[in-house]
Amino acid sequence: MNFVYRVAEFFQGRYGIDKLCYLLIGIYCALCFLNIFIHSLIITIIALIIAAIAIYRVFSRNIAQRQREAQIFEGFFDKIKYFFQTITQRVRQSKAYCFHRCPHCKAKLRLPRKRGKHTVCCPKCRQDFKMRVWF
Ligand SMILES: [Zn+2]
Repeated sequence: MNFVYRVAEFFQGRYGIDKLCYLLIGIYCALCFLNIFIHSLIITIIALIIAAIAIYRVFSRNIAQRQREAQIFEGFFDKIKYFFQTITQRVRQSKAYCFHRCPHCKAKLRLPRKRGKHTVCCPKCRQDFKMRVWF
């Protein structure tokens, strides 16, 4: 038998690498890079624990549990991604639009940027409120 076949046979039925594993490896590398300058035993131990978790996840045969962990991580990761996408969109549109919350229903509103006092009708709750755009 050749080596590649044996490796493929070894990995059969094991979980493998996913996004969470890439994140753990990234954190491990960042901590190792940081430890070049700090020389801390605690950071070394934390980095080794993170590496051990990543290796354990890759070789684990409990695929259902690993998939549940990956789902939780991806839900959390999607929230962070959405947060930064929203900020990026707001910065890009900040010249033409201003962003306010409705004081009644707390809905986020994107309004055209025109200086002065305005009466705004919220499209969700249909209530009017006054606001001022300074610049
Ligand atoms: Zn409203």
